Amino acid sequence: MTDLATHLANLDGHLARFRDTGILNLIDGKDVTGDDWFESRSPVDESLIARVALGTEATVDAAAKAAKAAFPAWAALPGDRRKAILHRIADLIEARAEEIALCECWDTGQAWRFMSKAALRGAGNFRFFADLAPGARDGKSLPTKDHLNVTSRHPIGPVGVITPWNTPFMLSTWKIAPALAAGCTVVHKPAEFSPLTARLLAEICHEAGLPPGVLNLVNGMGEGAGKALTEHPDIKAIAFVGESRTGSMIMKQGADTLKRVHFELGGKNPVIVFDDADLDRALDAVIFMIYSLNGERCTSSSRLLVQETIADRFHKMLVARVNKIRVGHPLDPATEVGPLIHKTHFDKVTSYIDIGQGEGATLAAGGIRVGDKGWFIRPTLFTNARSDMRIAQEEVFGPFLTSITFRDEEEALAIANGTAYGLTGYVWTSDLTRALRFGERLEAGMIWVNSENVRHLPTPFGGVKASGIGRDGGDWSFEFYMEQKNVAFALGHHKIQRLGA
Ligand code: NAD
Repeated sequence: MTDLATHLANLDGHLARFRDTGILNLIDGKDVTGDDWFESRSPVDESLIARVALGTEATVDAAAKAAKAAFPAWAALPGDRRKAILHRIADLIEARAEEIALCECWDTGQAWRFMSKAALRGAGNFRFFADLAPGARDGKSLPTKDHLNVTSRHPIGPVGVITPWNTPFMLSTWKIAPALAAGCTVVHKPAEFSPLTARLLAEICHEAGLPPGVLNLVNGMGEGAGKALTEHPDIKAIAFVGESRTGSMIMKQGADTLKRVHFELGGKNPVIVFDDADLDRALDAVIFMIYSLNGERCTSSSRLLVQETIADRFHKMLVARVNKIRVGHPLDPATEVGPLIHKTHFDKVTSYIDIGQGEGATLAAGGIRVGDKGWFIRPTLFTNARSDMRIAQEEVFGPFLTSITFRDEEEALAIANGTAYGLTGYVWTSDLTRALRFGERLEAGMIWVNSENVRHLPTPFGGVKASGIGRDGGDWSFEFYMEQKNVAFALGHHKIQRLGA
């Protein structure tokens, strides 16, 4: 296993070129500097990674025009040609997986043990949608007595993809790959806290033969480049992953140009542990789904709902394990939790420690900073919480778990559904009938029974309530990136009314 020192040396080699040039935008296949720059710093020690070209309204305009100009040829390219290019992109991601993972860990604070696989999952996303590209335009034949209706799908046009800073590489591929497979061209605005791997992805796509203008990269702030992208008349749709309140701003910003929007937003996902569950497996899953990826994960189970008959026992097991989670340098292969992305996020997460204590919940583990450099905190657990507390209602988005006890199924359901969000739910029980009944009534887009979050790419991914609009995955992605067209052919001489005859 590669050690920390080797990882750091390899990372240094990869970052050297960015120290000279900065992280540039990529528009119409060409590097573009900005008039101004912003800085990207590592959450490990706040050292400068590189300066980043600041995209403005004018930069977005240039990128949108490039995407518009490239659209007709890309949309007309036969699906099997798009498929071949997307597979080449996946090949190059795999070839550079280590570089991508090292950069992602350093830029975001995510632990190597998870990021080393995230790059490969990004390649997997490209392969999955590459294989669907030849059939993307397929439609249905819907005959009636008098007409043959034939439907087909057409790429909607240039689209904007706006991504957050949590596992940014994997998430970007999850949005960009289906857009390209559908025949859309893209302007990508990555999160300002994590620009590094978006640049690598854009480079890889061009190296793999993606024509200029098909994928354009514009770095910048949400209220600058992000807003301009959502308002641009040439951009037909916005695929957005981020906070619920940003989603609502984007919907307003896109109103004048009638943007189609797809939102993957926040969550306050419950994991419900009934007293008949396999408690050892449930424990592993509860811990994994809130403390892996630093808890900076939309699908994390940030609310534990545990039946009161087993609560003491389960909490004891939980505290013992949480206290042993290894917090450390993200590039150390032994590390399980790395630093939070940025000071502003660290301040937000740690503010909930005061909030939880102020609300009268019990701080059962963690709640303290680790070291005095970088944004490390101990994995945190609050017990004795009530559902109406802020720590049980608001998305903290860190290694921060709130535990609430329940008496019976009805109460568990009321608590589980009692937030504004509805992204995922996790149910642990050995009673199959209860699992089916509970799953039916749980308000969430995705539910796992006796399992942690295990993705299967053809299944629909997305949330209800404040957690999102629309679904990704399989054909659902194409529904967003494509328009439906119906052509009706008359089969003979059906009666046409003869006005004025
Ligand atoms: P964020 O909403 O602050 O930012 C996301 C992106 O939106 C960034 O690129 C940002 O620059 C841009 N942005 C901000 N304001 C904008 C505006 N007015 N117009 C256009 N763009 C704007 O989110 P974040 O803090 O980067 O990410 C964390 C959030 O993302 C959490 O709420 C998390 O749950 C959510 N998330 C959801 C999913 C999902 O699938 N549901 C997946 C990952 C993350």
